[in-house]
Amino acid sequence: MEKREFRAESKRILDLMINSIYTHNEIFLRELISNASDASDKLYYNALKNGSTGLDRNSLAIDIKLNKDDRTLTIRDKGCGMSLDELENNLGTIARSGSLDFKRENEKKEDIEIIGQFGVGFYSAFMVAKNVKVVSKAFGSDKAYCWESQGADGYTIAECEKDDNGTEITLFLKDNTEDENYDEYLEEYKIKSIIKKYSDYIRYPIKMDVERSRKVEGKEEEYETYIENETLNSMVPIWRKSSSQLTDEDYNNFYMDKFYDYEKPLKVIHSSVEGNATYNMMLFIPSKAPYNYYTKEYEKGLQLYSNGVLIMEKCSDLLPDYFSFVRGLVDSQDLSLNISREMLQHDRQLKIISTNLEKKIKSELLSMLKNDRENYEKFFKNFGLQIKFGLYNNFGMNKEALQDLVLFHSSSQNKLVSLEEYVSRMKEEQKYIYYASGESIAKIEQLPQIELLKDKDYEVLFLTDDVDEFAIKILMKYNEKEFKSISEGDLGLETEEEKKENAKKSEDNKELFTLMRDSLKDKVKEVRLSTRLKSHPVCLSTEGGISIEMEKVLNQMPNDQGVKAQKVLEINANHPIFNKLVSMMDTDKEKLNNYAQILYTQALLIEGLSIEDPVAFSNAVCELMV
Ligand code: ADP
Repeated sequence: MEKREFRAESKRILDLMINSIYTHNEIFLRELISNASDASDKLYYNALKNGSTGLDRNSLAIDIKLNKDDRTLTIRDKGCGMSLDELENNLGTIARSGSLDFKRENEKKEDIEIIGQFGVGFYSAFMVAKNVKVVSKAFGSDKAYCWESQGADGYTIAECEKDDNGTEITLFLKDNTEDENYDEYLEEYKIKSIIKKYSDYIRYPIKMDVERSRKVEGKEEEYETYIENETLNSMVPIWRKSSSQLTDEDYNNFYMDKFYDYEKPLKVIHSSVEGNATYNMMLFIPSKAPYNYYTKEYEKGLQLYSNGVLIMEKCSDLLPDYFSFVRGLVDSQDLSLNISREMLQHDRQLKIISTNLEKKIKSELLSMLKNDRENYEKFFKNFGLQIKFGLYNNFGMNKEALQDLVLFHSSSQNKLVSLEEYVSRMKEEQKYIYYASGESIAKIEQLPQIELLKDKDYEVLFLTDDVDEFAIKILMKYNEKEFKSISEGDLGLETEEEKKENAKKSEDNKELFTLMRDSLKDKVKEVRLSTRLKSHPVCLSTEGGISIEMEKVLNQMPNDQGVKAQKVLEINANHPIFNKLVSMMDTDKEKLNNYAQILYTQALLIEGLSIEDPVAFSNAVCELMV
């Protein structure tokens, strides 16, 4: 069967394309400057190819002219220019890219940095212009042509005069509307800021005549204006330089300038990568968390460049949430300029880059932890909470990546330690990684449950942030060693003999514990003989995975579901109070009941929990005193 060609309504395609690809008008300038830069590159490479070496890149400046009277903006390059055919083919055919062809033809050339390849950037001019005039003369030709178009209705081409090779594009700006002020693009400051934002690292100078004022010589208080041809871009992207060419100061200034921080970064990660993705990156870890870091307002992301041209200010796909504190940029020649946000998400290159970045950030942090402890602790003070959230989030999906980056306060070292360090110090017979949670280190220090562990010289991790215990529960184990709360379950501290002895004691005093539990009704699940106390008479422990600290955290949440820890009141059989309780059992059940209440309330106080009836407690204590 005969194959037919699709017909397309060029007007609609043009509309569709312009309006769906770009969200900001201002990027028309980025597109046209990128084209000018490509044209200059082509001239330069062709010259090299033909054996000429004398061409200086700086002589290929891109000029911008603003004319307020005519409401025009002109962009001129001294690049390869376009022949009659090329004007027809490249500007007359939507989605046709001469640059892509050029790239293909010169595939194996090193250092080729052509930006364009989609063949649509040029048309973004119609977002701001009602008429676009292109005057171009191909290098080596003696004829110049003028291409002109009002957009979708088509274009005209005619021969015209032009002295040098290259292209001059004049935009006749649209009339202002209620929503859009196109006059903006006739203002120096606006053009400067757009160029700084998107095209700062174009490697040809972008020049514009700007008005300046100066003192008239010899005269007080008299000023005159004059015109200066200013270069608007800084041209050399500092991330393309090798780190040996850069000083700490270069990095610091660049960071503070570019990312609006008034403090220098804590750490710089700068490298260029080749492989299944080719890119340069310069990443920074800030010294301090931004004031809004732990709020919804904070937006993560890295700047994304394609060949030095900014594609996106904050590309969030480049960073996992748990490294959202990282600032910086990625520049890759593998990415296309006019790719939309939605397309980027599925970009294979971008995925490879983000996976690499994640690994790199992690390994840099680990090496900082090993070799630059002081700075790592500074880092952890600011961003440790984020890492711990990362451990906990997504059901612990990222625990492998993050478990070596967390630090907790250690009872024996009295400083922050990593899990690896803890495990390396574990005693031979020690079964668990012990932890205790509480409001502050000082408060945990006073918990009665900790005494026995300290006696045995076991290290205990002190968990003081709300998220800590949740993160530990998700981790469950580190290096095959199970985590154990000092307030839950069997701590594994007794010898076989002690175990037998305690089991017998528990059995012998079963009635006492039952009586006490009954008097405390549903306040506790059980009253039991303690194996975790040394000098204190009582403590609370829990069963079932929700600790007292977790209960506190959950109850503060806006969507509090009234989750309760299952509490157990533990009694120290080696404390004199124990014998007293035993004796009361036969003589005075009423008194035993009072004692149970008092002991339970004491245990609540020790845990930092509020007591249900402070007046009753006070009365009960007074009664004992008199
Ligand atoms: P792209 O740059 O993605 O290829 P454009 O629509 O911006 O797409 O441009 C289409 C083609 O027009 C370019 O590929 C290039 O061949 C040609 N072109 C555009 N601007 C210029 C210029 N200033 N000088 C020479 N050729 C140009």
